[in-house]
Amino acid sequence: MKNLVFDNRFVHELPGDPNPSPDVRQVHGACYSRVMPTPVSAPHLIAWSPEVAALLGFDESDVRSPEFAAVFAGNALMPGMEPYAACYGGHQFGNWAGQLGDGRAITLGETVPTQGDGRSGRWELQLKGAGPTPYSRHADGRAVLRSSIREFLCSEAMHHLGVPTTRALCLVGTGEKVVRDMFYDGRPKAEPGAVVCRVAPSFIRFGNFEIFTSRGDEALLTRLVDFTIARDFPEFGGEPATRRAEWFRMVCERTARMIAQWMRVGFVHGVMNTDNMSILGLTIDYGPYGWIDNFDPGWTPNTTDAGGKRYRFGNQPHIAHWNLLQLANALYPVFGAAEPLHEGLDLYARVFDEENRRMLAAKLGFEAFGDEDAALVETLHALLTRAEVDMTIFFRGLASLDLEAPSIDPLRDAFYSVEKAAAAEPEMNSWLAAYAKRVKQERTPADRRRVRMNAANPRFVLRNYLAQEAIDAAEQGDYALISELLDVMRHPYDEQPGRERFAAKRPDWARNRAGCSMLSCSS
Ligand code: AMP
Ligand code: MG
Repeated sequence: MKNLVFDNRFVHELPGDPNPSPDVRQVHGACYSRVMPTPVSAPHLIAWSPEVAALLGFDESDVRSPEFAAVFAGNALMPGMEPYAACYGGHQFGNWAGQLGDGRAITLGETVPTQGDGRSGRWELQLKGAGPTPYSRHADGRAVLRSSIREFLCSEAMHHLGVPTTRALCLVGTGEKVVRDMFYDGRPKAEPGAVVCRVAPSFIRFGNFEIFTSRGDEALLTRLVDFTIARDFPEFGGEPATRRAEWFRMVCERTARMIAQWMRVGFVHGVMNTDNMSILGLTIDYGPYGWIDNFDPGWTPNTTDAGGKRYRFGNQPHIAHWNLLQLANALYPVFGAAEPLHEGLDLYARVFDEENRRMLAAKLGFEAFGDEDAALVETLHALLTRAEVDMTIFFRGLASLDLEAPSIDPLRDAFYSVEKAAAAEPEMNSWLAAYAKRVKQERTPADRRRVRMNAANPRFVLRNYLAQEAIDAAEQGDYALISELLDVMRHPYDEQPGRERFAAKRPDWARNRAGCSMLSCSS
């Protein structure tokens, strides 16, 4: 297998934990602990992303070599890798939770391009499920196959949908079992284990900053802020106060853009704790996430969140703002002034509003979103919710509406319930008539409108039941559906004739099935 070049700035420029033991503990005065992955008995490659392999400079023969599976299962290191687990804290479900840290994530290293290798950018390679670290608390540091398939497929699907996200290089089976009590109801089961290698320019989270503030460690907080800016936001130079203010504004802006994209494609993260918020504005930590089938702002896939539904689809823009507020509080000791932090938070609101309007205009095929369009959207959202209408099929179908004779007929397939469809038909028809009238006002050529709409409304998303089908087959040793789904999700806006089944709405069996509509944090 080809070698990569690593510079590992995080471990070279920031203080580490002097204690080399992997024992679980509170780690003070350090940004990370060095820790080796724990080897597994029978590593085997299950799936890989050709695009991410290419980003790193691996070709197919590298990926298929036994060394590759060994490295990305945690059994071997490539020259230059220096594994560590990061120390961070976080607000979980609205409450400060203290130290969390990489309990089952181990960064192998930060690889940088060399002259003439044809690649660009810094990429951090991180294993998820590679064994215990000082931050594993009461858990085992492992990950089950089902949740690893979900992370692998979804990060790649999100990327191809145009949503900022961490990536996934590969999914490796460990040949070992992991015991999980999926619904915390006293029925533990041994499940196959796996390791995902995820890839991003940085895995720094809001919680990496919060932990130092919570401990009054201003010196380390300042170092981490300045390191993050220097490594990940080198465009901001100048005086410390200026570049820090610009940096925080950029974090707010990127977060706003990411959330608008989630809302566009119907993605529900499920656990928007501050330890799961990337400082780069990337979607990170794919756990009990879900995709909207029938449009419902009140839906959360996460059973742990079923009570308060804090992380429901429609609440995501608000929660991101709340999380940025926690980050702002954590940064205050470094900034020493509230104004730049307020400015960033206000910018979040402004950018989200702009992006949301742009996104709605694109989904609906408008040239621009006017204030008078808000009522039209509000009526539509209420109607889609009440009538149980599939979000993806509905918006995709809307591009084919006959503006001269608008009717519900071409959209019938989007409805989940015959009764609810019948009840909603008059209202839906009148909404469609108002919509057609609105579209015609702009006189956008039909082709242009359709192209714009199809670029904003995916035909394929990683529907919860599709991922579950791939999991069910994989647990029987058949990995073909993982590769096929990955391939479908590489072109989510294309029609892909012959692959209609991957665009089908949720079948009845999946309505209340674990893994499809209800997910737990157990993974
Ligand atoms: P999550 O809800 O997946 O974001 O995880 C919250 C915290 O729990 C993080 O610090 C994780 O690293 C840790 N964690 C989750 N699952 C495990 C596990 N199986 N072993 C060790 N730590 C874990
Ligand atoms: Mg997490």
